[in-house]
Amino acid sequence: MPLEPIIDSPTDSPAEALRGLCGGRVHLPGDPGYDAARLPWNVAVDQRPAAVVVPHDASEVAEVVRAAAAAGLRVAPQSSGHNAAPLAERGLDGVVLVRLSEMTGVGIDPDAGTARVVGGTLWRDVVAAAAPYGLAAMHGSSPDVAAAGYVLGGGLSWYGRQHGLAANSLLAVEVVTADGTVVLADADHHAELFWALRGGGGNLGIVTALELRLLPVADVYAGMLLWDREHAPAVVRAWSEWTRDLPDSVTTAMRVMSFPPLPELPPFLSGRQLVVIDGAVLEDDDRAAELLAPLRALGPEMDTFGRMPAGALPEIHMDPPGPTPAVSGHAMLGSFDEEAVAALLAEVGPGTTTSLLFAEVRHLGGALGRPAPGGGVLDHLPDDYALFCVAIAPVPAAAAAGLADADRVVTALRPWSTDRRVLNFTEHAVDARSGYAADAWERLCRVRAELDPAGMFRANHPLT
Ligand SMILES: Cc1cc2nc3c(=O)[nH]c(=O)nc-3n(C[C@H](O)[C@H](O)[C@H](O)COP(=O)(O)OP(=O)(O)OC[C@H]3O[C@@H](n4cnc5c(N)ncnc54)[C@H](O)[C@@H]3O)c2cc1C
Repeated sequence: MPLEPIIDSPTDSPAEALRGLCGGRVHLPGDPGYDAARLPWNVAVDQRPAAVVVPHDASEVAEVVRAAAAAGLRVAPQSSGHNAAPLAERGLDGVVLVRLSEMTGVGIDPDAGTARVVGGTLWRDVVAAAAPYGLAAMHGSSPDVAAAGYVLGGGLSWYGRQHGLAANSLLAVEVVTADGTVVLADADHHAELFWALRGGGGNLGIVTALELRLLPVADVYAGMLLWDREHAPAVVRAWSEWTRDLPDSVTTAMRVMSFPPLPELPPFLSGRQLVVIDGAVLEDDDRAAELLAPLRALGPEMDTFGRMPAGALPEIHMDPPGPTPAVSGHAMLGSFDEEAVAALLAEVGPGTTTSLLFAEVRHLGGALGRPAPGGGVLDHLPDDYALFCVAIAPVPAAAAAGLADADRVVTALRPWSTDRRVLNFTEHAVDARSGYAADAWERLCRVRAELDPAGMFRANHPLT
């Protein structure tokens, strides 16, 4: 019988040096609060850091960084834990997890059209704070993703083809750097750091606040079209053709979905295989209807597209409302032509069985494909589509089956894939250079080497 691993007594741990910090919100292995504190949003991920600390403000974060450095430890910032998998995969020995989940809050400056967002705040709170002023933030499909991790990783929003990557809506960042000081980085101060933060993830420091440019958008024409999966061959082919000739004002995604029969799901989802197209059309109602007409002509079973308050946009994608065990696969696609549609449907189309909750293709291009003037390290994405496959993984066997099925779809679409990735959608340990253009990668590594020569910060997608 295998022996249980011997866990060092907490008093042997260098992390013991952190005990008095953050008003005692420090959890070491063996402490009663450790397991709850280390649980990320993706509850399938078993992250076991040397300690979890839960700061309440920037000065507590700075203290943690200084104390960790003195104890020979590294630090990993985490807001929600949506993308915790690559961190855990590499192991967290000697790493202090800095959970920003209790550092939340949003201030709106309606005259300037900006939001000041505290480091661990979820998008749902930013959207709710901005909406009363007729303003919208460049959130993604999920209300409980945190603004920080999403924006630092690029950020693909329903506003994306019109307005570009969310990273380039950053105006200023308050960040704790490797020497444990709180710095304000913007276009005029610490400009190289500011450039690197806009796409460089958690490699440069712990972000304690963000200043974001908001969009003057009070309402938006958005929603979803839904068909039974038996219609997928016609619908997916039509979507792929439709996306090839669209104005930048339209940002949509297409998913082939399989729901288990569950009483908590609405009847239109429970036990169903579906094909769903959703997104936003930033046009007036008549023009939006005109643009959607070719898809509506395919007779969707459900059509929720219409004008809605911008505050409702984070709900249209039906992302899970709370912590979820999940595994995934991802690739960037240079094109999504008729043969690519056939390859996708051979894996998840009518007549197939899959453990994937969905195989999704997001339409990029437009402003996402053009370098943002004065943008950061990730100022655009070169490819026109992103593939993201997700399976729910409550037990290890489901995780293994989900990963195998996700891998099958990624492999089937390899002829259309490029060597780039969106690191936000990459939930494995990969070589992070695949997230960047070659020259941007070199400059990012130089900035990191200068600002954090000892490698204090451990990001989910580390540069080295
Ligand atoms: C259901 C779902 C829907 C999604 N939808 C979208 C979408 O529409 N568009 C999109 O672009 N992405 C989307 N994503 C991906 C998401 O943007 C990434 O998972 C992102 O990393 C989440 O950031 P987080 O802070 O919530 O997660 P975390 O796991 O907490 O953070 C991920 C990494 O970001 C860094 N980080 C986080 N907070 C800080 C901080 N305060 N300071 C410094 N570094 C920090 C760290 O390196 C951390 O490891 C989705 C993911 C899921 C699971």
